[in-house]
Amino acid sequence: MPDVMSAGGSIQAGVAVVGAGFAGISAARELNAAGRDVVVLEARDRLGGRAWSRPIGDGKVVDLGCEFHGQDNSVSAQTARSLGIGSCKVYDTGYKLLDDSGRLRRWTGSAPMIGAVATLDLGQAVLRLERMRREVPQEAPWTAPHATRWDNETIWSWAQRNVHTVKGRKLFRLLIEGGLATSAAEVSVLHVLNYSNGTGGFRATTTVTGGTLENRFAGGAQAVALRLADPIAERAYTGAVVRRIEQRSDRVLVSGPGFEVTARRAIVAVPVPLSGRIEYDPPQPGHRDQLTQRMGFGSAIKYLVIYDEPFWRRQGLSGMVISWDGLVRAVLDGSTPDGSPGVLTVFVTGPAARAMGRRPAPERREAVLGELVRFFGAAAGKPDELIEQNWMEEPFTRGCYHAYAPPGLYTQFGSALTEPFGRVHWAGAETVPVEFGSMSGAIYSGRRAAAEVLHADDPDRAGTRTPGTTEAPAMEVQA
Ligand SMILES: Cc1cc2nc3c(=O)[nH]c(=O)nc-3n(C[C@H](O)[C@H](O)[C@H](O)COP(=O)(O)OP(=O)(O)OC[C@H]3O[C@@H](n4cnc5c(N)ncnc54)[C@H](O)[C@@H]3O)c2cc1C
Repeated sequence: MPDVMSAGGSIQAGVAVVGAGFAGISAARELNAAGRDVVVLEARDRLGGRAWSRPIGDGKVVDLGCEFHGQDNSVSAQTARSLGIGSCKVYDTGYKLLDDSGRLRRWTGSAPMIGAVATLDLGQAVLRLERMRREVPQEAPWTAPHATRWDNETIWSWAQRNVHTVKGRKLFRLLIEGGLATSAAEVSVLHVLNYSNGTGGFRATTTVTGGTLENRFAGGAQAVALRLADPIAERAYTGAVVRRIEQRSDRVLVSGPGFEVTARRAIVAVPVPLSGRIEYDPPQPGHRDQLTQRMGFGSAIKYLVIYDEPFWRRQGLSGMVISWDGLVRAVLDGSTPDGSPGVLTVFVTGPAARAMGRRPAPERREAVLGELVRFFGAAAGKPDELIEQNWMEEPFTRGCYHAYAPPGLYTQFGSALTEPFGRVHWAGAETVPVEFGSMSGAIYSGRRAAAEVLHADDPDRAGTRTPGTTEAPAMEVQA
């Protein structure tokens, strides 16, 4: 990956792709395979975006960003396999813990014991959501029969009418916050339905075995992104912060400090909220700009806490904890398959993350370790290393795990997620309903945008998608 400064300022290309996360890399790879001269412009000094793995010795890594995938047939799993990268199971043996306002309750199976009445209460609400989500079309959720009603309400106000017990509501709120890293009072019902459609159901997002947390990639998620980028690595420039995109009748000029790329088309594969910070000339349509003003990122700080060994397993614990009012909302066993070293993957999410992010570093460390000691005993207070990754502080991401739709966004601005703007096309994990906000969604979106570009340049081309139609791009990966 050359630094953009090595290019001498001026670069010519067929297509300029902005951003080298899974979306940008997938788009560039597809275009390259179709014989297009493509350059990728990446602001950071590395590729992968929200896929970022840190070595921890002995050839092992921990994932600071995305980590888990569900079924073998998810787009990310299929992609990794086709690149020769396998998966390993997340440890899921033994008791899980529910932090019930300070009391630790052990549980097994897919849902914690919160009492028969509350369990039934929550179960009926989840069933109702499951039925509702089946009415939401994958490619255009804003066209669902009850889209306006569902888009006009937050999932929290829906829960207050449909979940009646205190514990049922607490667990419901935690499921939302765990999955979306934001408060249930900030997202629309339609977004939750669309999101859970993409992941195979409401519960799947917070379930290990049988859910989206079941597997992680051997060698880390960034290894998949880097392998995917292999064919275009020489044309992927790092240190290239795109600030301006100018459109002329037959080309685009994509520029930033120290470089200008002239290309026939551009694919902007940066997260939707950040795409609005680029200057467009002519200015992007009001509809699109208003979308970028409204779609914000969730908030999460991820901790990887490393120990000699996964000592909690000896206590009969799986390492999984969920907490509805503690500081730490979720913990998982993040150890490599051989259990050496032991790793706890810890998430502070939503409002708790926003408050936590403003505290001094030593206080944050003490607070997280204090919670782990409460869950797992004194041994948890003495890790070999504690790695903190606050995605809200990352200038080229600004939140995590993904952006979300507040009330009104889908029905009023949904189509702007993908509608091309002249020679500028959009990609990114937030621009798809297929596994929205995930590695799979990002890969899917990159392929969709590449197909759009190929089609725009050659409308007779077979197998590509006409912008605005519901035909999905091919999912095969060329290894
Ligand atoms: C902590 C965390 C946990 C997650 N867990 C999971 C998980 O377990 N499973 C899962 O499937 N997904 C997970 N996700 C979500 C997943 O990481 C993302 O959905 C996916 O990686 C997004 O890919 P992308 O290419 O759309 O965006 P990004 O990965 O955000 O890529 C965008 C790229 O654009 C670059 N960029 C931004 N602005 C500019 C600019 N002006 N000029 C040039 N370049 C720019 C950025 O540096 C970045 O490289 C998680 C994310 C986080 C942060």
